[in-house]
Amino acid sequence: MTEQYKEPAPYKKDSENPFESMLARFDKACEIINLDEGIYNYLKSPVKQVIVSIPIQLDNGKVVAFEGYRVIHNTALGPSKGGVRFAHDIDLDEVKALSAWMTWKCAIANLPFGGAKGGVKCDPSKLSMSELEKITRRYTANLLEIFGPDNDIPAPDMNTNEQIMAWIMDTYSMHQRKFVTGVVTGKPIIIGGSRGRREATGRGVMIATLAALKKKGLNPEETTTVVQGFGNVGSVSAQLMAEQGSKIIAISDVSGGYYNESGININKAIEFVQKNKVLEGGNFGEKISNEELLELKCDILIPAAREDQITSQNASKIKARLIVEGANGPTAADADQILTDKGIMVIPDILANSGGVIVSYFEWVQNRLGYFWDEADINNRLNRMMNEAFEFVYLTALEKETSMRIGAYIYAIEKVSTALKLRGIYS
Ligand code: GLU
Repeated sequence: MTEQYKEPAPYKKDSENPFESMLARFDKACEIINLDEGIYNYLKSPVKQVIVSIPIQLDNGKVVAFEGYRVIHNTALGPSKGGVRFAHDIDLDEVKALSAWMTWKCAIANLPFGGAKGGVKCDPSKLSMSELEKITRRYTANLLEIFGPDNDIPAPDMNTNEQIMAWIMDTYSMHQRKFVTGVVTGKPIIIGGSRGRREATGRGVMIATLAALKKKGLNPEETTTVVQGFGNVGSVSAQLMAEQGSKIIAISDVSGGYYNESGININKAIEFVQKNKVLEGGNFGEKISNEELLELKCDILIPAAREDQITSQNASKIKARLIVEGANGPTAADADQILTDKGIMVIPDILANSGGVIVSYFEWVQNRLGYFWDEADINNRLNRMMNEAFEFVYLTALEKETSMRIGAYIYAIEKVSTALKLRGIYS
């Protein structure tokens, strides 16, 4: 007997459909470069969208059917790449948007990958390890024909981690009757993961922030930073920005925001969260809401939580000089112009948070080579690739007299459409 899974109340703000938000920027970029109509139509929709049912037996004996998604947006540049997230309010539109962002992200970073994204509609905080394992294995088994080192390569995303990647690798390998490490990235190092992968997205955010500060003639040591979200991306971004000398004056997580004008000790906050799961109770500063946090006076704002946090409702109240998008889609399309008019430089998600997929690429390469690089090597390569990507986007934006975001879309769309034209349409 299967039982209908009951969804908890949504956490997301429902201001905008993320796929529409993606399309609004895509349309604007296509208009500027006058993209061929056929290519436009081709790139507008994902090449494959799969919905699977994931029935598992819970620890209490009941059987529940969860819903899983995998969307392949484009494969013109190579096998598709993108994470899998577990969230109770995820839907196909969100996964579609995230998959398209992966296409643009991989193109900007100059990776031989297309874009994809996956997800399971579930609330991981209410599931035991054994239930999470069952969900992961059944999800993988249902997508065996989609996944593969030369086809589609998942990775961690919100609420998924190294352990979940290990289960994906193991399930896939069991079915293939051989050890296939390159089918997934973000694995534990001992079973084929890469050094530096866990910190890679946050490190990339730091690299993009430094590159942007340089353009603005600002020294990191003279800056203040506010970080929304204290998961893998937010916490590492905050830690590395603090190492660069920036004063982290506010951080937040699901329990709320914490503001301290004289600076928060991020290493202590990370230790606290490792023990207590949330920032609450750590005495990091004055308690504020996540909304108030976004509107604080600061030099650098790093939204590293979720989509649609900066919208037409609050964009005019933002006082940061620079926004570096650690999350995917934290700014809704209707906020773009408001931020531009205020002279705020926005380093878009598809550039700013590409450190994760860049080191995923290194992991995939190392898996194919069977030879592993040391951490310094990984970080140097990441630094070089992120800076190169930043410079190309910056130059595109200058040349087309547009924002960094639209510059990033233009740079990506031009690359993917060149590949499409060379490959031709197989009809
Ligand atoms: N989930 C990460 C992202 O949104 C990483 C994807 C990957 O490594 O494939 O970029």
